[in-house]
Amino acid sequence: MLGLMQSQQLLISSLIDFAERHHGETEVVSRRVEGDIHRSNYKQVAARSRQVANALDHWNLGFGDRVATLAWNGYRHLELYFGVSGSGRVIHTLNPRLHPDQIVWIVNHAEDQVLCFDISFLPIVQAVHGRCPSIRHFIALCDESKLPGDSGVPGLISYEAWIGQQSSSYEWPDFEENCASSLCYTSGTTGKPKGALYSHRSTVLHALAGALPDGLNVSARDCILPVVPMFHVNAWGLPYSAAMTGAKLVLPGPAMDGRSIYELIETEKVNFAAGVPTVWQMLLSYVQAGNLRFTSLKRTVIGGSACPPAMINSFNDDYGVEVIHAWGMTEVSPLGTVCTLRNKHLDLSADDKLKVRLKQGRGIFGVDMKIVDGNYRELPWDGQTYGDLMVKGPWVISEYFREEGASPLVDGWFPTGDVATIDPDGYMQITDRSKDVIKSGGEWISSIDVENIAMAHPAVAMAACIGIAHPKWDERPIIAVMKKQGADVSREALLAFYEGKTAKWQIPDDVVFVDAIPLGGTGKMQKSKLRELLRDYRLPNT
Ligand code: AMP
Repeated sequence: MLGLMQSQQLLISSLIDFAERHHGETEVVSRRVEGDIHRSNYKQVAARSRQVANALDHWNLGFGDRVATLAWNGYRHLELYFGVSGSGRVIHTLNPRLHPDQIVWIVNHAEDQVLCFDISFLPIVQAVHGRCPSIRHFIALCDESKLPGDSGVPGLISYEAWIGQQSSSYEWPDFEENCASSLCYTSGTTGKPKGALYSHRSTVLHALAGALPDGLNVSARDCILPVVPMFHVNAWGLPYSAAMTGAKLVLPGPAMDGRSIYELIETEKVNFAAGVPTVWQMLLSYVQAGNLRFTSLKRTVIGGSACPPAMINSFNDDYGVEVIHAWGMTEVSPLGTVCTLRNKHLDLSADDKLKVRLKQGRGIFGVDMKIVDGNYRELPWDGQTYGDLMVKGPWVISEYFREEGASPLVDGWFPTGDVATIDPDGYMQITDRSKDVIKSGGEWISSIDVENIAMAHPAVAMAACIGIAHPKWDERPIIAVMKKQGADVSREALLAFYEGKTAKWQIPDDVVFVDAIPLGGTGKMQKSKLRELLRDYRLPNT
């Protein structure tokens, strides 16, 4: 017997329809590439996303065709999110921090037909357009007056002229919720990038789970600053969760430096921000140096890389900002776990609460997880046993785009490539990427643990731990350290700083001071590059 409820497909267009109807006046504020602040609201975003849909229809762009973006977080990018997917096409967010050759490879693999780009990325488009034959239309995300006259990009038109000719009336098509909505390629630090092709259903369900109190906790009372880029896994789904709940959105554009982010938080009264640790490090340094306070910021979600305890402490103790640690990946849309406390933790001491908060968190409904050994046998949730982390659920990929038939799944589970423990309360803690694990004398050393201790030293701005081949122990950890500007620490003092904080054999054998730790396109430390930089390095006494 079937239930007698209305059957409605879960479509991305329903999110912007809802935001327009119920939260039309709620603001969407953006810093533009020109540097000025632009104010819009859900009503305008909805109307202009319908203009985008009409403009794509006008070009006869087919259902499922890809529209690529090379863009910062801003209102036009948001309009494309809804206009492209809502009309049945697929929005393909490209990461502008990738090398032009990688961009060419990805565009050709995805067969993008349209490329919309922020004018600051014109040099990239100039470098790649001749090698991307599938692209039929180039659109600069700017006013007609800002369109460069002699760009050399064929048929380049401005976004405002493009949508300006179109009506803002449009009826969103109704179609099967499992149709593709958006595409994002993995960062591809090893091998070729791979495409995660999200569906309307996966995106809406992910946004719903993301908005839950034990998810990212998004509501109509929030003013959200997603510093995490819209070009990387849909800014953790926040644009969708915000539309679904009517939260105010503040989009930072290209300005990720501490000062710009701080000013935006203060002037727009942002209470909730989300980003990777490297961005928050810049913000904290700026606030510390200027002896500033946050007057509105209450919580920040940090993920994408392990959040050092020193950062959680500083936000919490010095600024009264709650840090929520989260784990995810491109293939998981990205939200997998979020670290929120349970009722039983509320009376714990600050130190014991911190121990919980440091973990990457509990599964949210929709993502099931387990850890397994080398034979895919499930390992216990005892908080001690390490294993390969596997996940499954309606917003976890089943196959990569254009690699259909070569499923990465094992018995329905996606192997994440992360090594983790899970404790009896279901809190997962990442110890490493499986390729970064350091094995010393048969025992595993967590590079994240080694980094976290160094990061707690007041002179350390960033630290990366890698394993170096050792004749007796197989591998030993060393720590590469970038010092804070104007601060100093010696090799010996930093090694002494480890004493009593970890087992002796887990203390790195050496400290290498570097000017900068190589970062990848999404702000994560690139250990492969660091290993390359240190290829001639030899451990002391070997
Ligand atoms: P990406 O697909 O580029 O977003 O990268 C996903 C990977 O980032 C994961 O598989 C993890 O290795 C890493 N990652 C994400 N969040 C965290 C976190 N909170 N702690 C440690 N590693 C993380």
